[in-house]
Amino acid sequence: MSRTYRIAVLAGDGIGPEVMTESLRVLDAVEAKFGFSTTRSTQLVGGAAIDATGHPLPKETISACEQSDAILFGSVGGPKWESLPPDIQPERGALLPLRKHFGLFANLRPGVCLPSLTHASPVKNELIPHGFDVLCVRELTGGVYFGTPKGREERDGEPVAFDTMIYRKSEIQRILRVAFAAAMGRGKRLVSVDKANVLATSVLWRETAIEIAREFPEVTLSHLYVDNAAMQLVRRPDSFDVLVTENLFGDILSDEMAMISGSLGMLPSASLGARKEGTDLYFGMYEPSGGSAPDIAGQGIANPIAQVLSAAMMLRYSLGEPAAADAIDAAVARTIDDGFRTGDIATGAPTETRVGTAAMADAILARL
Ligand code: NAD
Repeated sequence: MSRTYRIAVLAGDGIGPEVMTESLRVLDAVEAKFGFSTTRSTQLVGGAAIDATGHPLPKETISACEQSDAILFGSVGGPKWESLPPDIQPERGALLPLRKHFGLFANLRPGVCLPSLTHASPVKNELIPHGFDVLCVRELTGGVYFGTPKGREERDGEPVAFDTMIYRKSEIQRILRVAFAAAMGRGKRLVSVDKANVLATSVLWRETAIEIAREFPEVTLSHLYVDNAAMQLVRRPDSFDVLVTENLFGDILSDEMAMISGSLGMLPSASLGARKEGTDLYFGMYEPSGGSAPDIAGQGIANPIAQVLSAAMMLRYSLGEPAAADAIDAAVARTIDDGFRTGDIATGAPTETRVGTAAMADAILARL
């Protein structure tokens, strides 16, 4: 039986449409090679949707996403829409409502520094002779950002402010299952990051991690306090395979990880929602870690790799086509090893071939 999946394609603004075009070409190629197909519903989002319909997330876009197995997202925003009221600005009005509508509770961000790009990492190169490849799994819908009560009041004659860090066990269980399953598809090592020496939520987190580990006997689980994790990430990023943590810690650690990777144009991300019954697959939204890069939009020079790797993550986590995902990851790594560079990752070394967006995708396609 032929394997067909439905995806919603939301290219958005700035470099979004440029890099999306290239990622769809790569998707075409793996479909032909691995014998499956995708039905694509192309929809407006962000500033492009504001211009056409007056709203950054039109109803048709939401309903196309609801009818899909996954959303492949470009990026939204730009100077043109910055003076609009916050609620209808591209990011606030489209990205956040999409995350909420689809209950996207797990954020997966790989921090990859390929061996030939270690010069771009601020980590001392002798510490990362072979680069590194870490996956950060962050809980996205719970914890102190959403806990109640939160507020501000007057106590003993001075203002106080408070937030509540709260986690239900079921919330911890579901994010840990995502992380363990991801580790199963990689190096089978999971570090759970908490602050169990101080925080009650972290004690429950750690207990739950130990419980869920029994479902995944092949995965080696270890624990780090978040302050130590932040240090180890800059000292020995290559010692990590997958790390999993709660919302606030993950917000900080995933940005630290992107920074040490050195090149924003290379980093994809996934936000996962409902699990498809009886499988380890999830409905998900896949997008580059960077934004719409208005400074280089329309010039054909953006690095398409973050978008291409976002499509690979979609194949892995939502469509269940891991061989095609592996093929894309390998072709990208070979393209970089062979010296192809867009402006954001170029050093000017004579071994490099300087390319634009489409030629970078051509080089990846030639290595698939
Ligand atoms: P940005 O990530 O768009 O750009 C930061 C820098 O990285 C720029 O110099 C840009 O040229 C470069 N860069 C980013 N992606 C690149 C790529 N693929 N290839 C080469 N260079 C790349 O962040 P910003 O400048 O802070 O934001 C620009 C706009 O994007 C804003 O409107 C912001 O709101 C929006 N934004 C959107 C998202 C999203 O859609 N998820 C995320 C972040 C920012």
